[in-house]
Amino acid sequence: MQSEYDIVVVGGGPAGSVAARFASQMNVSVALFEKDGEIGIPVRCAEATSDMDLARLIEVKREWIANYITKARLFAPSGDFVEIHLPSRGIILHRRLFDSGLAEEAAKQGVAVFTKAFVSHVEFNSDLPVVTVNYCGESRQVRAKIVIAADGVESRVGRWAGIRTQTALKDIESCAQSLLGNIEVQLESIDFYFSSRWAPGGYAWVFPKGERVANVGLGVNCAKPLAKPPVALLNDFIEYQFPQGARLSTVAGGVPVAQALKQLVADNLLIVGDAARQANPVTGGGILAAVTAGKIAGQVAGEAIRCGNYQRNFLKKYQQEWIRTVGKDYARFYLLKEWMTSLTDQDLNDIANSLKKLSLEEINLLTVFRVALVNHPRLLFHALKLFASYS
Ligand SMILES: Cc1cc2nc3c(=O)[nH]c(=O)nc-3n(C[C@H](O)[C@H](O)[C@H](O)COP(=O)(O)OP(=O)(O)OC[C@H]3O[C@@H](n4cnc5c(N)ncnc54)[C@H](O)[C@@H]3O)c2cc1C
Repeated sequence: MQSEYDIVVVGGGPAGSVAARFASQMNVSVALFEKDGEIGIPVRCAEATSDMDLARLIEVKREWIANYITKARLFAPSGDFVEIHLPSRGIILHRRLFDSGLAEEAAKQGVAVFTKAFVSHVEFNSDLPVVTVNYCGESRQVRAKIVIAADGVESRVGRWAGIRTQTALKDIESCAQSLLGNIEVQLESIDFYFSSRWAPGGYAWVFPKGERVANVGLGVNCAKPLAKPPVALLNDFIEYQFPQGARLSTVAGGVPVAQALKQLVADNLLIVGDAARQANPVTGGGILAAVTAGKIAGQVAGEAIRCGNYQRNFLKKYQQEWIRTVGKDYARFYLLKEWMTSLTDQDLNDIANSLKKLSLEEINLLTVFRVALVNHPRLLFHALKLFASYS
């Protein structure tokens, strides 16, 4: 490990590896510090995303893909469900292979990747940031011209730079998930269960990874009073839906369903991925956002080094590009999420009931929305806010 790099990336998830790789392509020196022993482990993810959207950003390797998805089934509390054909094909990744593949690409590009490298502090008040990293039983100090914070939902780097990173409890989902074997799944469908019984303020999911294997999990809104912790709710859900399922592994973790941080850059700093609260607020899906933000941030950081300007006024190009490509849409999705969390179990049952009368061809997300409004005009206020933001 050198005592100085042009760029230090904290965190070896998708946001960090992609940022490191695209920065390194600009012929600058880049180190990536990941606290875990191996990149991609543990997997805290249901692994669903869109291959076409990903392929616009990076080369997607076939071996990263576990399964292809063409439709979604939305289950109401009553058990009625609505089937929707996805506008673009979905995939279930092998996140372990995906994350390590992205880090491998970064290493091939010249990034110095360090695992078991825990960043315990970054001092931003000196001339250049000083990163304190615990590595091989030693605490080391590494200077960097630019730090990219890609340290996930529990990020601390932004706070060390004095950025407001607090997120309201209502904008965080607490999730629990098991990989289940020995269960019946519809290979081409991802299933969502909306009910306060299973997941108050969120949803439960079944995302098939292959024949008889699926990620089965749920996320609950952290601001909702819970009768049981998420893992106990998941046990109930599995017991009810898949009593014969074999539990292959279980994980828990938080997902931001928030607006992205107002400030994504400061002098010598860019914040990306979950650390920047960039996940899709409706679904909690953050893989695509992490890769998008990582790519833009890496390119801007590399360019900044080459121009010798690491100040906020230069780095804000990243924030502007993020808002232009994704951020503006996600700000609207946030309003949609607020609208969705205002629906009661009765609302959801009524909506499913009305949709049952329509043919499969007539059903898409817009019809779901329209039917919801016809059933519950009181939701109109939220809807108007949503549409006003589009004008
Ligand atoms: C249960 C669950 C299910 C999900 N399902 C989906 C899904 O189906 N589809 C989807 O798109 N998204 C899903 N997500 C969200 C998705 O996993 C994240 O949005 C995505 O991983 C964000 O990538 P990231 O690189 O920003 O952060 P992460 O993947 O969290 O990576 C951050 C990395 O930083 C490291 N790190 C943290 N602190 C330090 C430190 N101080 N020093 C060094 N390293 C550090 C961590 O070890 C970690 O490896 C899910 C999340 C959860 C919890």
